[in-house]
Amino acid sequence: MAIIIDGKKISTEIKDELKEKVASLNKDITLCVIQVGSDPASTIYVNNKKKACEYIGIKSLSYELPNETTEEELIGLVEELNNQPNVNGILVQLPLPKHINEDKIIQTIAPHKDVDGFHPENVGRLSIGQKGFVSCTPAGIVQLLKRYNIPIEGKECVVVGRSNIVGKPIAMLMLRENATVTVCHSRTKDLKEITKRADILIVAIGKPKFITKEYVKEGAVVIDVGIHRNEDNKLCGDVDFDDVIEKVSAITPVPGGVGPMTIAMLMHNCVESGIA
Ligand code: NDP
Repeated sequence: MAIIIDGKKISTEIKDELKEKVASLNKDITLCVIQVGSDPASTIYVNNKKKACEYIGIKSLSYELPNETTEEELIGLVEELNNQPNVNGILVQLPLPKHINEDKIIQTIAPHKDVDGFHPENVGRLSIGQKGFVSCTPAGIVQLLKRYNIPIEGKECVVVGRSNIVGKPIAMLMLRENATVTVCHSRTKDLKEITKRADILIVAIGKPKFITKEYVKEGAVVIDVGIHRNEDNKLCGDVDFDDVIEKVSAITPVPGGVGPMTIAMLMHNCVESGIA
């Protein structure tokens, strides 16, 4: 019987640990959350982040800016928050409106306040094994594996997807944990042959139910990062859960697997920024 990895439970565990840690500190931790425009999905994410802050005892300050906000105005706000010593973390909700260059904004955030772990300095630190903020979804995946006592060292890990926010950083993290890592992408030849070698298969491609049992080795651990809404309004991942379930030793469901871990690890980064 496959283990269904319960991300909701682990994320609650982490949030409870953080809550205790924050209560024991003798100071406030402040996260600034900036949203430009009113994209409904972004509003839901931002509200969930604010709720998590409240639960843990982190002060969250909201900046809801109109869609017409210019790049210069946004840079000005980020710089102002960089300079405020009482602000520990700055989060700019992505995506930004098309007229604003996201890379430029990310690079404006002071690396020691970049709780999303997207700043090139933090990405670089991760790749050379230095301490820094790690992107939240990949960090959450490692926590899931560790808290389920799934061995990583020496294992063959295949990552499908090479995005800057998931694929590349999770590959780096798994390497740091001493797995042997292969990264696949849309130009990979014979994808199935490679994924079938994986002891741990991590899928972040953004295609609903793409990974079926033909891609999976018997007994593999499968981590599904994808999240999609079906025609019948149900959520599903990049992995065809029902198809692979008989073959795997452990798997993350969608919803309730990787998803809840992202916010938990964001909170972890905020607490770290507050302690530093
Ligand atoms: P991107 O679209 O940025 O990247 C997708 C990657 O998959 C690319 O590297 C692409 O290759 C690769 N890819 C696409 N098609 C194929 C294919 N047929 N075979 C092999 N590789 C392929 O996606 P993200 O990494 O941002 O997100 C992936 C999924 O994870 C999405 O469903 C997203 O919603 C979800 N997600 C969930 C999060 C959570 O908290 N649970 C957080 C972030 C994302 P190439 O580079 O060659 O184009």
